[in-house]
Amino acid sequence: MSYACDSCSMGVTNLHCGKCGKGLVMDTIVDGGETIAVSRCPGGCGMIKSPTCCGKDMKKTSEKVSGTEAATSKINYSCGKCGMSVKDMQCNKCGKGLQGDTVDVEGSKVGVSKCPQGCGMIKSPMCCGMDMVTVKA
Ligand SMILES: [Zn+2]
Ligand SMILES: [Zn+2]
Ligand SMILES: [Zn+2]
Ligand SMILES: [Zn+2]
Repeated sequence: MSYACDSCSMGVTNLHCGKCGKGLVMDTIVDGGETIAVSRCPGGCGMIKSPTCCGKDMKKTSEKVSGTEAATSKINYSCGKCGMSVKDMQCNKCGKGLQGDTVDVEGSKVGVSKCPQGCGMIKSPMCCGMDMVTVKA
């Protein structure tokens, strides 16, 4: 499954469940009358909020990554609250594994997932209303 941002065209692909390794699937849930886009494990391990970029939910895209170069520096993210995790996130443009980083936004640190080739960055995945934290693969 791939996601792309409308505003800056940054994309992310290849999200997998950190527990069972299945590819995450797009789904929506209704929370307090609001429809929220989520990425769910088909094996029932859990779900994360779909990635965001430029302050908006990224959209599902069917675009394939050109080049099949294996991600060199894979990072895993996990939720400190429910234990849901996600791994193998790759840049949608060059196929490189995204790296965890932080940026300063108006004085506060924001977790991001960044392409090492400079294609762009997305906001780190969220779960249970919190940023997921990077864990070593
Ligand atoms: Zn963006
Ligand atoms: Zn799973
Ligand atoms: Zn969670
Ligand atoms: Zn890239």
